[in-house]
Amino acid sequence: MLTLKDVTVRLGGVRVLRNVDLKIEKSSTVALIGANGAGKTTTLRTIMGLTEMTGQIEFDGAVLSKVAPSRRPGLGIGYAAEDRRLFSGFTVEENIKMPGQVAGYSDADLATKMERIYEILPELKEMAKRPAGAVSGGQGKMVALGRALVIGSKLIMLDEPFQGLAPALAHKYADALRKLRNSDREVTLIITESNPDLLRKFAERTLVIERGEIREARSHITIG
Ligand code: ATP
Repeated sequence: MLTLKDVTVRLGGVRVLRNVDLKIEKSSTVALIGANGAGKTTTLRTIMGLTEMTGQIEFDGAVLSKVAPSRRPGLGIGYAAEDRRLFSGFTVEENIKMPGQVAGYSDADLATKMERIYEILPELKEMAKRPAGAVSGGQGKMVALGRALVIGSKLIMLDEPFQGLAPALAHKYADALRKLRNSDREVTLIITESNPDLLRKFAERTLVIERGEIREARSHITIG
């Protein structure tokens, strides 16, 4: 359902992705691992249309590279960037709802989505009315996950979600991913990490990015 064909991305004269060919099946959970600077973020940003690229990306029957970046969330793609990008003057709940509003969801649809998100991430309900600028870095990662869930009905991409999380929060985050997977068998998940051990419990397939190429990991990681 997500296909990259001969995708090349150059940043500052360096080829960060080189002729990448990749197929990701619907409903799968895929870990994308690689060292710092290997190109994990660039891969997700390219799928979101946030980099210049050559080649083609297809998603759910459409040529994604022809869809304007601002319209990609409307296709059911949710993305939680590594640096969260929260609007600090808005509340946690307003931040979570924002992409849904941009995608044109009705108030009733948004309310149903929020209910489901609070079921999966109860800690978000507790901080719903707080300004996003007042939550900790780790809590901010939860908010970013909630925001990705609002519109990510088909594909959710999480960039290094465990990075910098205290163990208690990492545990809650992992729990939320498990709940998400159990409550929604259809959605496709792509999660990047520099530490593959963290994804051992989730990923059915592990891809390694190295020197601009993406290949299957040699030792397969199974659902724990
Ligand atoms: P990290 O774990 O540090 O986030 P990553 O695997 O996500 O790493 P990317 O952020 O995708 O890696 O970066 C890939 C490479 O591209 C790095 O070497 C980085 O320095 C380089 N790079 C990223 N953005 C730019 C840019 N705008 N201009 C030039 N080089 C860039």
